[in-house]
Amino acid sequence: MRIGQGFDVHALVEGRPLILAGIEIPHVCGPLGHSDGDVVLHAISDALLGALAEGDLGRHFPSSDASLKGIKSAVILEKVLGMMRSRGCSLASVDCTVVLEAPRLSPHQSAMHMHLAGLLGIREDRLGLKVTSTDGLGLVGRGEGIACMAVVLLDEA
Ligand code: MG
Repeated sequence: MRIGQGFDVHALVEGRPLILAGIEIPHVCGPLGHSDGDVVLHAISDALLGALAEGDLGRHFPSSDASLKGIKSAVILEKVLGMMRSRGCSLASVDCTVVLEAPRLSPHQSAMHMHLAGLLGIREDRLGLKVTSTDGLGLVGRGEGIACMAVVLLDEA
């Protein structure tokens, strides 16, 4: 077994689409970023790299690389999953927590869950997708940013 944890934060700005777990959520703000700023896919990709002892997401997909500008986070995740498979590992389970103040994600949570399980290639009962706020405290509470934490467990052949 291998375990990895990942964490990601993006600033929220007006006029950017809010993409979470690969799904666009209707909202006035979205993450500022080099890619589409999907904190869920970034945190999970970072956790996968951690489990593989391959450093962090910034090492493999540096924001200084102009060829990566506008890259979809689903493409980043697919590349990292490919690294995992080439190392003889498979994904046993994933748990993640999205931390944001607004909008409420409960109406979108089952669609996000289903879509994310598909992107990860795992059964839905092997994926945890939770949402919390910070009770109005800090950068998330002020609506300035959005964050996600993720843990992954890999089986190694
Ligand atoms: Mg990020």
